[in-house]
Amino acid sequence: MTEVIPHKIKKDLRSFSLEELKNVIQGYGGKPFTAKQIQQWFWQKGVTNFEEMSNLSKSLRAQLAQDFDIKAIQEDKTQNSADGTIKARYKLHDGHFMESVLIPVPVDNRYTVCVSSQVGCSLTCSFCATGRMKRIRNLEPGEIFDQVFKVNQKSLAFFDHPLTNVVYMGMGEPLLAYKNVLESIRLLTSPEGLGMSAKRITVSTAGIAKMIRKLADDKVRFNLALSLHAADDTKRNEIMPINETNDLNSLMDALEYFYQETKNKISYEYIALRDFNDSIDDAKNLVKWCKRFPVKVNIIEYNPIEDGIFNRADYTKIDKFVNYLKRNDVMATVRRSRGKDIDAACGQLANKG
Ligand code: SF4
Repeated sequence: MTEVIPHKIKKDLRSFSLEELKNVIQGYGGKPFTAKQIQQWFWQKGVTNFEEMSNLSKSLRAQLAQDFDIKAIQEDKTQNSADGTIKARYKLHDGHFMESVLIPVPVDNRYTVCVSSQVGCSLTCSFCATGRMKRIRNLEPGEIFDQVFKVNQKSLAFFDHPLTNVVYMGMGEPLLAYKNVLESIRLLTSPEGLGMSAKRITVSTAGIAKMIRKLADDKVRFNLALSLHAADDTKRNEIMPINETNDLNSLMDALEYFYQETKNKISYEYIALRDFNDSIDDAKNLVKWCKRFPVKVNIIEYNPIEDGIFNRADYTKIDKFVNYLKRNDVMATVRRSRGKDIDAACGQLANKG
């Protein structure tokens, strides 16, 4: 009878802490400082195979390659929009896909990557294509890091400029992948990683009050955006079922607490949906939620999705809406939609390719 040799599932060495990595290296008879060198290869140089780690001995590289994996993301497809936006689809080690978007605004010297935090999403916001996909899993910190690293390379190649901002507004609800999202931000911001400023990073949530309070207690340094989209509970329940258990009062209490504890910037994202949330009465309701702590409102042009029930609000209505906010001392800007020809705009990410 032929002996069946079980296929060894290798662990991802990038998921090891420094201490764990030191133990691995010492187990091979190596010096603990090598662990730090390996982490530099991972998180400063973005290297995704052991062979390239040139300051490690050949035998150690071979040993690591035999015993461990680096479960990096692989670029699967890139689409370029007429307006400069670039959408990249990535394949994960387990065969799933997710997407990131590069949004260049050269006139403002702003090059933003929108990253995903989950494959799919468990929330079912009615205006969003990702919400129809179901949540498959959270992304690993390394998989989130890879998106920033790879899109930064794209930004340099296409625009000769590195990324200036990172927003967690792609696929998934970041606060439901809390631990991994915070670890990815540590890798992006720490001197042992890319050394980016936390002030350039914004995490966007559909609104989970308990987790917003946790961010405050954890004294995070990045900015927070609430995907508000409706300024009264009845309407918000209609488009964002998460609001049924996290109503506006509870969210505002949590955001006020977040501001008190961190003094970090807070913004509201507000997709203007025709004849749903674009009236002056809606603007009046919105003003009420803008007085308890400093907040900026970003009005976003909607991009209809396949079989969707909403349409884009008219420009004249959006202008009136924004003017009303401004007259009432609310800081507000309109974000014209980007990348809609390649389904890369807000709420359109669905791995369609
Ligand atoms: S808007 Fe965000 S939270 Fe809502 S379904 Fe889409 S990805 Fe999920």
